[in-house]
Amino acid sequence: MTSKPNASITELPELGMTKEDFIADFKQYYVHCLGRDEDCRSPFYAGEALSQVVRDRLMERWKATHKTYKQARGKRVFYLSMEFLMGRTLSNAMLNLGITDTITQAMYDLGLEIEELIDSEHDAGLGNGGLGRLAACFIDSCATLQLPVMGYGLRYEYGMFTQTIVNGEQVEKPDHWLRNGYIWEIERLEYAIPVKFGGHTEVQTDEEGKHRVCWLNTTDVLAIPFDVPVPGYRNNTVNTLRLWKAVATEEFDLEDFNAGDYAESVAAKITAEHITMVLYPNDANENGKELRLRQQYFLASASLQDVVSHWVKLHGHDFSQFAHKSCFQLNDTHPSIAIAELMRLLMDLHGLSWDEAWQITYETMAYTNHTLLPEALEKWSVPLMRRLLPRLIEIIFEINARFLSQVAAHWPGDNERLRRMSIIEEGPVQQVRMAYLAIVGSFSVNGVAHLHSKLLQQGLFKDFYDLWPHKFNNKTNGVTPRRWLAGCNPELAQLITETIGEQWVTDLSELKKLTPYADNAEFRARWRQIKQNAKQRLIDYKKQHQEPVHLDIGALFDVQVKRIHEYKRQTLNVLHVIHLYDRIKRGDTQNWTPRCVLIGGKAAPGYFMAKKIIKLINNVAHVINSDPDTHGKLSLIFLTDYRVSAMEKICPGADLSEQISTAGKEASGTGNMKFMMNGAITIGTLDGANIEIREEVGEENFFLFGLTEAEIEVKRSHYNPVTIINEDQDLHRVMHLLESGHFNQFEPGIFDALITSLKSPDDPWMTIADFRSYLDAQRRVEHAYQNTELWTKMSILNCANSGRFSTDRTITEYNNDIWKLQSKAIKFPYGLKFT
Ligand SMILES: *Cc1c(COP(=O)(O)O)cnc(C)c1O
Repeated sequence: MTSKPNASITELPELGMTKEDFIADFKQYYVHCLGRDEDCRSPFYAGEALSQVVRDRLMERWKATHKTYKQARGKRVFYLSMEFLMGRTLSNAMLNLGITDTITQAMYDLGLEIEELIDSEHDAGLGNGGLGRLAACFIDSCATLQLPVMGYGLRYEYGMFTQTIVNGEQVEKPDHWLRNGYIWEIERLEYAIPVKFGGHTEVQTDEEGKHRVCWLNTTDVLAIPFDVPVPGYRNNTVNTLRLWKAVATEEFDLEDFNAGDYAESVAAKITAEHITMVLYPNDANENGKELRLRQQYFLASASLQDVVSHWVKLHGHDFSQFAHKSCFQLNDTHPSIAIAELMRLLMDLHGLSWDEAWQITYETMAYTNHTLLPEALEKWSVPLMRRLLPRLIEIIFEINARFLSQVAAHWPGDNERLRRMSIIEEGPVQQVRMAYLAIVGSFSVNGVAHLHSKLLQQGLFKDFYDLWPHKFNNKTNGVTPRRWLAGCNPELAQLITETIGEQWVTDLSELKKLTPYADNAEFRARWRQIKQNAKQRLIDYKKQHQEPVHLDIGALFDVQVKRIHEYKRQTLNVLHVIHLYDRIKRGDTQNWTPRCVLIGGKAAPGYFMAKKIIKLINNVAHVINSDPDTHGKLSLIFLTDYRVSAMEKICPGADLSEQISTAGKEASGTGNMKFMMNGAITIGTLDGANIEIREEVGEENFFLFGLTEAEIEVKRSHYNPVTIINEDQDLHRVMHLLESGHFNQFEPGIFDALITSLKSPDDPWMTIADFRSYLDAQRRVEHAYQNTELWTKMSILNCANSGRFSTDRTITEYNNDIWKLQSKAIKFPYGLKFT
């Protein structure tokens, strides 16, 4: 680079934030950078140009944040997650920078519709559902609370599949979300890190005569970080989400090229790059595939090496303060191999003893459990681990041996307990129980709602709770009010701000101040109008993307959107819809409440029953919607391709939120919170965070039904669904319609598996047991909805009492109890210099 004398240091001025600045920069990007002009009026390219304008403003704050943290040398937290379900970035970035109105005006002046640009962005769908979206909401709150927290995840080439429906069935299309580039990421080749696989271990003697284990003959894969900015709300903080991409290492290629094995070399490159090729589309269900284990280790190893090498740059090999200055939060067991990996790095690379390394490791790791479903508890076969990660399995066995001797000392002679608690499960093939590794190797274990945390302590992890009660704690989930109220429902946000001021955006407990307005008729009328507008937008959204169905804006919008899973009981919802249809056909329609039932969600591609449920919803919808008798009374719609950007249109327009899982099965739920914030009323079981939602809003503003978790467990042993069906006329007719093939006239037998499972005394989800109680609750819903003023009051009170379900509250609790970080105000403008 040539430079003039005296021009060596230049202070970079911060970028302008006026409409004129945005217009000038936009033109510059659209024409000079993207090479488009007035002949190409593409919302996509206009969106790209606008995104660059916004990204520049994020970039200078990002740099300032980085420098502020570096200077402070304080403690840091690393949030490790296999999933970050980020959705779109542009509108959220504008909201958090506080430039939405100015940009909207700037685009308008250029003859562009901001909504069109926003909608042209592809979702970053790097997650399945609740767990991945939670990670995204968490990092938003960390930035808003100005906490030095960094997210670590994987940059999947293909995210969550796109769902289409063909003949009522789910068809999956790969989601090549990176096809047109991803404007929000920055590749950082300079921080690439090799990750080892395979090979074997040997004990060698180092320069000081100490024994060290070496992991040799490995096949290395290079981890390339791609950084994504995570802006806080109007506070100049921009944190980092670092996503790893797998590429073949150059060294590896070169060896094979020299040996003349060109084809093998290219093949090996492909194998390496498979690691981050695709997100596993299974929600709450694991399948033990080798590639999945490779992904998990790749995330854990790359992230830990990154953190440790940064530490070594600052502190050399002195790790005495490492545990005081770092904490890793493990989002479920998926990244829990990090525990063994940190041991390896500290011992094998940095020469610490076992005891020193162990002390640091368990003081640094914290584990969040997300499920009670036994089929979702991860186990990895020992032979697979030995082949793929030979050094890690040695360490796991040593952790287990030391742990079991602790258990033996605590409960002498209790061999049954040793067998139960062992990290290694014995059997035809030994298995590593990853949840147990996570508990043993962490100082904190938390569930995600009160009931869930209690059930962990009393059931799944009881032995561990008996040993270490102090490790266990609860952190009830939340959602970020920026995306899930301010961003997705600007009209309602505006009314709230007008009424109680704008503090609620960063202190959601402020919403309580809306309570008295529930008794104000004028306010209720405005509230109702905004809900009607949102319902209209939901209808428009649905029309834009799917075949037209008549939707009546006056009908009760009854919504269940979430992953399709038996425990979430979409079938219970469908049974109720069939019952309503049956009533219409029987002429039992006095005082009818028109209802539009909307159901959406993806099924894991290999989950047979979940796919049958989708087919059932679509077949029932077809029969109901094409019957003129239902017109104006009932419609059923399947919303295809449910995802974050879809939920941003759906939740503002919902009247009724369906949260109807079998009690004791939904760890928390977060969809329930998004609906509540947007003024929908919940019909739900006493499960997950529903319980806390009901406590907050009051029982009179929540439609409760169903057996409790304790009642479910008592009933299990003598559950007889066939008797229940025979003794309930309404249910009997519903089952008869189903079994007679009314919804599958030319597709005989396709719902047999579903029907058999509903009628089985062993049905784990006990759908039939809750049918009558659900029906009664739905009757109460109908009566309440007919009283428009009462319903609106309930809607307002739901929003007013949703403050507890902000991730700002959740993250504050994580920080007070687990992380103990200092929040850091960002110096901005920082006076960035270019040398
Ligand atoms: C919030 C959300 C979920 C979680 O929904 P639950 O009802 O809690 O299961 C899943 N997927 C998407 C796209 C979401 O936004």
